[in-house]
Amino acid sequence: DVSDLSDLERIQILGHGSGGNVYKVRHRKTSALYALKVIHGNHDEAVRRQIIREMEILKKTESPYIVKCHGIFEKGEEIHFALEFMDGGSLEQRRSDMMSERFLAQVARQVLEGLKYLHRHKIVHRDIKPSNLLINKKQEVKIADFGVSRILSQTLDPCNTYVGTCAYMSPERFDPETYGGRYDGYAGDIWSLGLSLLECYIGHFPFLAAGQKADWPALMCAICYGDPPSPPPTASAHFRSFITCCLHKDARNRWTAAQLLAHPFLLSNSPQAPTIPMQRLTI
Ligand code: ATP
Ligand code: MG
Repeated sequence: DVSDLSDLERIQILGHGSGGNVYKVRHRKTSALYALKVIHGNHDEAVRRQIIREMEILKKTESPYIVKCHGIFEKGEEIHFALEFMDGGSLEQRRSDMMSERFLAQVARQVLEGLKYLHRHKIVHRDIKPSNLLINKKQEVKIADFGVSRILSQTLDPCNTYVGTCAYMSPERFDPETYGGRYDGYAGDIWSLGLSLLECYIGHFPFLAAGQKADWPALMCAICYGDPPSPPPTASAHFRSFITCCLHKDARNRWTAAQLLAHPFLLSNSPQAPTIPMQRLTI
């Protein structure tokens, strides 16, 4: 683990979110690379303490599917986190690549393993989206950012710009009475994953046409009152079914992470079973 912030040398900026910047850094003594996330200092003390407490939990998290935290530092008003560096960046940055179903099945499997772990520990992520799904050269996919987004989505208006976007929020978070929002919060993460995978497949946010700008009230109406989006007819039946299982509008009908891990889309694309003929599988 990283014991001192001054041991870290900044190499380049990796990106910026609404909460602050992320830098690629090198540990001077060990040469190990980390991603340093710097959260701006404009929060009250209670929120800061809560973010730090949450990140302490993340430090203890032992899942190969969740980005590890290696150090937490307070510097004046800022909070710095030394995170596991993911050299392939986020799925959002790769959105222009055509992502094959096979690749997306590997992504889905790993993110679902991460969600299964979090949900088993009674943790809801609340901010699954392509920019929070990171990849490395070993083709490992990991979930980033659970601590910070959880706190900020609890303490601020969910559509506050700090949280970035509520575009990936499930219908039950806007309208809990109609869509089973009181049932449990875990299904919201599954909705967000389904939307993120579909976005990676079609190359744009599924509730908007390519290049269309978000008009927030219209988008919220589409999420709550429209049909859920689906892959084009050219996609395989397994992929279309998988996305349907993630995007049931009523939270109570949505599949859980454990159920989705056994879906034929993942089984037929698993590294162990390279080619299972479609007709042998029953959905
Ligand atoms: P928002 O603030 O709206 O949630 P975001 O997720 O893009 O958006 P950040 O979490 O601050 O914002 O991350 C900014 C970018 O930094 C990410 O999109 C990603 O490309 C990069 N990044 C974040 N964490 C890591 C990491 N551990 N390894 C490599 N790159 C990272
Ligand atoms: Mg993020």
